Amino acid sequence: MSDVHGNLQALEAVLEHLDGGLAVDGLVFLGDAVGYGADPGACLELLGERCCALVAGNHDHGVIGRTDLSEFNEEAKEALLWCRNRLLPRHKAFLESLPMRTVTEGFLCVHATPKAPEAWNYIFTYEDAEEALSAMETDLGFVGHSHVPLVLRQGPGGKISVVREEELRIEPGHRYLINPGSVGQPRDGDNRASLVVYDKEQEAVRLHRVDYDVHEAAVRIIRAGLPPSLAHRLYFGV
Ligand code: ZN
Repeated sequence: MSDVHGNLQALEAVLEHLDGGLAVDGLVFLGDAVGYGADPGACLELLGERCCALVAGNHDHGVIGRTDLSEFNEEAKEALLWCRNRLLPRHKAFLESLPMRTVTEGFLCVHATPKAPEAWNYIFTYEDAEEALSAMETDLGFVGHSHVPLVLRQGPGGKISVVREEELRIEPGHRYLINPGSVGQPRDGDNRASLVVYDKEQEAVRLHRVDYDVHEAAVRIIRAGLPPSLAHRLYFGV
């Protein structure tokens, strides 16, 4: 899962969903624990407790000053400054400890792109997808950052296609780059929290969408004095 962005209501709903009979063996977080939402510290603590592998996102680096705030839009910047004043030293130390990329259980995890994670680029074009897939040391990789679920599949001949099914079979000889979407601020027009579950035995990846208390998350953003647009967008998933 990726891009929790301080949305505790969404994160708790996702954990409850995963604990409710899915029996996952491990949770992997693809970055951006903080920024935008009203509960960055609580989210960081839950993620730290529950995840077996985590990587840093651009907002995580923005808060600790590793990525310049001029790289962010106005609302994001305001939320990061707000966050910087509220996180405890142990939260900041935890963010500082996060790697840029990691390989776990045979798959690659990175927030933005496999080739130059620190540039925080997006995968927009066919060429971007080619570059990203060729920079993977594994046949399966997961990225976050865009807040939009996406599955890219590269065939043995090198051709890349977008897979539309919600349940995907991992085929031998193919390479996959998967974006699970965002837990705390989905942007694909669906306001439910988004994540994927990878079943290594069945060689299957399934997209999950989870309802959560959007209103509560929005009210907490307003009460915290964060930009109201950050609350409003949650209702629409944009
Ligand atoms: Zn993000």
